Amino acid sequence: MKKTLNIAIDGPAGSGKSTVAKIVAKELGIAYLDTGAMYRALGLKSHSNNISVFDENAVGIMLEKTCIDIKYEDGIQRLFLDGVDVGLKIRENHISQLASDISKNHAVRLAMVELQRKIAEERDCVLDGRDIGSFVLPNAKHKIFLTASIDERAKRRHKELLSRGETVDINNLKQDIAKRDDNDMMRDFAPLIKAPDAIEVDTTTMTIEEVVNHILNQIKG
Ligand code: C5P
Repeated sequence: MKKTLNIAIDGPAGSGKSTVAKIVAKELGIAYLDTGAMYRALGLKSHSNNISVFDENAVGIMLEKTCIDIKYEDGIQRLFLDGVDVGLKIRENHISQLASDISKNHAVRLAMVELQRKIAEERDCVLDGRDIGSFVLPNAKHKIFLTASIDERAKRRHKELLSRGETVDINNLKQDIAKRDDNDMMRDFAPLIKAPDAIEVDTTTMTIEEVVNHILNQIKG
């Protein structure tokens, strides 16, 4: 089977991964896979079913009865949770921490990583996440690690939520992001980490266009 082209874009919350990854994928004419959406969907399901994200047993049982399906329409990813498109619901701010907490569960990670690897094996794609370059696809052809100051990341996330009609205090958001970073970096299994061979890009003072061009230049070498 022909080897697919995989580009890993990792980094902390609000570093611009999804915005940039989407454009890079479009420019290259390949798919975009938002891996965070999978953990968000599981966070959403546990919330809707009153299952604590910390209850390993209950989450394990829930996982066995869960179907996460990724479909592409005109190159746009749609995520179906048990047959329902939850693309918008999973973006609500309260889902972020649930996603981070449930992503620490080993069974959850193993199942999601398997799904991510399968998708990456089937098609050329840009994947964004926390552990793509370091764990999911250690042999990915290109690895980028995006960072930005916490103030800038909170500002971006605030803007994004406002555009979706959600009002959140920016200082609370900053605290939430710091907590989530900590959670993601400190977990024992596949934490948020820069792969040794990833190219780090600090996007604090860069425009989206500048970041995209920087990445495309790296890829085209
Ligand atoms: O990228 P996004 O902010 O939507 O991800 C939500 C959460 O999912 C992250 O805080 C992180 O805990 C988890 N995640 C992960 N591994 C990934 C992608 C996301 O653990 N590859």
